[in-house]
Amino acid sequence: MVQNNIEKTSDTPMQRITNSELDKLIGVKFPVLDHGFVMLVDYMGGDSSIVQAARVSYGSGTKTFREDEGLIRYLMRHDHTTPFEMVEFKFAMRMPFFVARQIVRHRTVSINEYSARYSVVPDFYYIPEKDDITAQSATNRQGRDSEKKLPNEVVEWFRNSVTEHSKDSYSLYEKALESGIPRELARMVLPLNYYTEWYWKINLHNMFHFLQLRIDPHAQEETRRYAMAMAEIVKIAVPVAYKAFEDFSLHAVRFSEKESMAVKDMLNGASFEDSANRNGLRLYKEDGTAFKTGEGPEFIQKMERLTKRNMLRV
Ligand SMILES: Cc1cc2nc3c(=O)[nH]c(=O)nc-3n(C[C@H](O)[C@H](O)[C@H](O)COP(=O)(O)OP(=O)(O)OC[C@H]3O[C@@H](n4cnc5c(N)ncnc54)[C@H](O)[C@@H]3O)c2cc1C
Repeated sequence: MVQNNIEKTSDTPMQRITNSELDKLIGVKFPVLDHGFVMLVDYMGGDSSIVQAARVSYGSGTKTFREDEGLIRYLMRHDHTTPFEMVEFKFAMRMPFFVARQIVRHRTVSINEYSARYSVVPDFYYIPEKDDITAQSATNRQGRDSEKKLPNEVVEWFRNSVTEHSKDSYSLYEKALESGIPRELARMVLPLNYYTEWYWKINLHNMFHFLQLRIDPHAQEETRRYAMAMAEIVKIAVPVAYKAFEDFSLHAVRFSEKESMAVKDMLNGASFEDSANRNGLRLYKEDGTAFKTGEGPEFIQKMERLTKRNMLRV
């Protein structure tokens, strides 16, 4: 039964799906940060594997490009996710430990990491570029504000101190190894800006979920750069699916029920502030100052993304 359906999905004998542009990228290091990289090691499938898998469900064979594109966009719009799992990527990556700690939270990936119990950690550490060292954000408690510059001397002091600290730590690490301390213990003196390496294998459905979370401006900038490097490769691998992902997820704006009601009020002519307040999206405190966090400010951010204008009175 299944056999019949699978046979129906292909007008020609089955063959491995390859992508000559992607083949050229295998083994090419995409540099990230000062010593890191993302490199495609292998892949399986492409846009046509998504279509192929989906047509097993619907029981019809290969169609024109436009029909295939329409099918991929339909699958993405309606969260019919399993056909996207038919595409896989294997990357080699080198990233600072603090970035790896964030990426490793994505549990739907297969990972094999360099073992600092088994081998000596190479002397690579991350020093942020001057422009990347900006002040703590007032609105995003987890991040920095890329617009809020710090005095040059503070930036210089931080870069020099981190360099010195990294070198001192590595000297201690080497001394510990020379003194007979086992590698598994000696490594604990290395700071989080040292680099680790791993193989990282993921399917396209989980890749999109990862990219959605880690390309987002709220993600840590260093981790975003790894996500963006991977996105460049994914775009080449599955151009149609990637465009659908951009349209329906990455660049889409999702409204809560309260937000939808506020938008409805605005379409009926109410002001932005009245619409927000009326629907419980609080913008101002009792003393008239604006909230910096919460549902109100998040609604502002969404509307500003949509309208490209400042929604709040200043
Ligand atoms: C901007 C940002 C800030 C963050 N801040 C913090 C923080 O301060 N502290 C912190 O600890 N983490 C933080 N995280 C990590 C975050 O909580 C998630 O662990 C991480 O983003 C992985 O997301 P995920 O679980 O959806 O992904 P994956 O682990 O890849 O899982 C994909 C999906 O599979 C399903 N799934 C996988 N495993 C399970 C399971 N065991 N049970 C149920 N469903 C499962 C879920 O639907 C999940 O969305 C942050 C992440 C981001 C993007």
